[in-house]
Amino acid sequence: MYEQSTDPYVSVWGENLHFGYWDGEQDQATVAEATEALTDKTLALLDAARDERVLDVGCGVGAPALRLAGQTGARVTGISISQAQIASATAAAQKAGLHERVSFQHADAMDLPFPDAKFDSVLALESLHHMPNRRHVLGELHRVLRPGGRVAIADFVLLGQTTPEGTRILEDFRRTGGVLSLGLVEEYQAEIVDAGFTLEQTLDVSAQTRRSFAATADAFEAARDRVVPFMGAEGLTAMVQTCRQLAELPQAGYALFSAGRV
Ligand code: SAH
Repeated sequence: MYEQSTDPYVSVWGENLHFGYWDGEQDQATVAEATEALTDKTLALLDAARDERVLDVGCGVGAPALRLAGQTGARVTGISISQAQIASATAAAQKAGLHERVSFQHADAMDLPFPDAKFDSVLALESLHHMPNRRHVLGELHRVLRPGGRVAIADFVLLGQTTPEGTRILEDFRRTGGVLSLGLVEEYQAEIVDAGFTLEQTLDVSAQTRRSFAATADAFEAARDRVVPFMGAEGLTAMVQTCRQLAELPQAGYALFSAGRV
């Protein structure tokens, strides 16, 4: 999915391939500002220090990793399943002059090519919903984290049981968004604990991120001429409709988690 969609997506939404965070109705932040705000909320949970080794799981085109390294002086390794993203992210690190602190490599989060306890902290910013088995990937994150290290996760969650109509909308979300792992926030917390972590914080930011559904629909509709060649007119219509329905679905939520490895 990302091999084909990353460039158009970046041109429509920006280099932060995740939701935005708006602090209430009156917040006038642009998508670019709001997506950076969500990066910052997530990085605040990580609280990385200078020279720490951070793994960024599902790094996109590198914007969060570069922000983290730029702000804290941490050394970041980003991984993605998409070769095209790794090429873009590597170029971005060069351009930012951060290539000595930040590197990117092609890898599958389900099978991390790193030894046990290699990293001081792990970031997974809106990537774990793509994993075919979230329990397994959480085990991998735990394995590569050193004792005393911390993980910060930002991801889609469900806030309760849906009606049959809501369940149908979520099925569309799974299909059009490549969403393979989606469940109740309590299930997510239990899986984090079962992987061996001590859960520290859970922040329900559903209200602050909800505007992203409509903003995505608006942005893609406005860029119709550019996006139809890669997703087709029907694909665009389906995606926009799903976003608008999700915007109205109370159970479609978003959470930030932090957890420590003892
Ligand atoms: N964290 C980035 C990108 C989020 S998009 C940002 O916030 O900008 C989701 C990311 O997860 C993409 O980079 C995608 O390539 C990656 N991804 C999906 N499945 C993966 C897997 N199995 N292993 C590694 N990365 C994966």
